[in-house]
Amino acid sequence: MSEAKKNIYPGALDESEGLILESIDRFLERDVKPHVHALEKDDIYPIEMVEKMKELGLFGAIIAPEYGGLGLSARTYSRIVERISRVWMSLTGIFNSHLIMCAAVQRFGTEQQKSKFLPKFAAGEVRGGLALTEPDCGTDLQAIRTVAKKDGDSYVINGTKTWISNGIHGSCFALLVKTDPNAQPRHRGISLFLAEKHDGFKVSRKLEKLGYKGIDSAELIFEDYRVPADRLISGTEGSGLKHALAGLELGRINVAARGVGLARAALDESIAYSQVRKTFGKPICEHQAIQIHLANMATRVEAARLLTESAAAAYDRGERCDMEAGMAKLYATEAAVSNTMDAMRVHGGYGYSKEFNLERYYRDAPLLTIGEGTNEIQRLIIARQLIERNPV
Ligand SMILES: Cc1cc2nc3c(=O)[nH]c(=O)nc-3n(C[C@H](O)[C@H](O)[C@H](O)COP(=O)(O)OP(=O)(O)OC[C@H]3O[C@@H](n4cnc5c(N)ncnc54)[C@H](O)[C@@H]3O)c2cc1C
Repeated sequence: MSEAKKNIYPGALDESEGLILESIDRFLERDVKPHVHALEKDDIYPIEMVEKMKELGLFGAIIAPEYGGLGLSARTYSRIVERISRVWMSLTGIFNSHLIMCAAVQRFGTEQQKSKFLPKFAAGEVRGGLALTEPDCGTDLQAIRTVAKKDGDSYVINGTKTWISNGIHGSCFALLVKTDPNAQPRHRGISLFLAEKHDGFKVSRKLEKLGYKGIDSAELIFEDYRVPADRLISGTEGSGLKHALAGLELGRINVAARGVGLARAALDESIAYSQVRKTFGKPICEHQAIQIHLANMATRVEAARLLTESAAAAYDRGERCDMEAGMAKLYATEAAVSNTMDAMRVHGGYGYSKEFNLERYYRDAPLLTIGEGTNEIQRLIIARQLIERNPV
């Protein structure tokens, strides 16, 4: 019986969700599992998998059906992300940062922007991501230095963005800039543009990483890059930070789901390995020291999954859920870090081997504590919301 039919989740699956998850499982079994090791080892972009992901509709997962997307709920979307992350987390980055860009257009774009871009985004014909971070700032986005100057009916943009996922293989990015570098408060001078690659938009270099291989991370340089004024998301200056951060709520739920996936992959491999590896005449799963690791890992997976489901449900109800998404992101990603380390202990020397998946999970997990707002920042968001929601 497939995982989708087994229904491992507390919330009932409706029929269409079950079918989608089954097709994801088939894709993972047939098209991903046999190839991950080779592509990851040589840090190769998975072109053929991207083609399959287009067919599955993943690039339009949360885009409304009227624009050609699947219109999935955050809950279904996060279940897809969890499943894929159990096999190869990098694949989720290829469509997730793209979908955050799509969410900004869908939520705040003008009618013209929606009808022009969303169908191409949904088909995966035009793919990209979010270009916020700069060499001097990631957390403090109000300190960005990329500037857009109005010039007739276009803007001229200069600046550098770094760590941009899909920077090489993508062709369109939600680009955060200052339209008024002197504005106070600073966020009033920040705007978000849809920036397509053409003259003045250069990929200066591919960035090498500890893990998260396969997906490209790049530095982008904008030199007198001219963009038509109608690419300013929402059509008005000064709301860019709000538009970019609104997408991050879903982004954080997605990162939490990646954490659940990795934490669970580490657990699953440990449960299996501990039953076949023997020491002192019995399988290591019969030693209490190993049982304690397994129990801790399984409990973290369950807690992480429930927090992620709960944040996704709040998002789907249209509620403010920055605290819920923050808790899910914080807990699930720390669970991924802890579980991959514990799984390495369970595997002994083999955990350190390039021939096992575990060392990949171990290299991928720390990224989750950094992306979509570091875990330090999640704690600040949670604490601020606790105070705001509980005034005395
Ligand atoms: C593989 C990868 C992919 C990425 N993809 C993208 C992408 O597609 N698009 C994009 O725009 N960016 C992307 N990023 C960048 C990522 O979002 C940033 O690295 C992240 O936001 C942190 O910013 P920073 O690295 O500048 O760290 P800094 O902001 O310099 O933070 C350094 C440390 O200080 C802490 N800190 C900072 N401010 C505070 C505070 N007020 N209180 C307490 N602690 C604080 C942080 O938590 C962190 O521990 C990616 C990064 C990586 C590694």
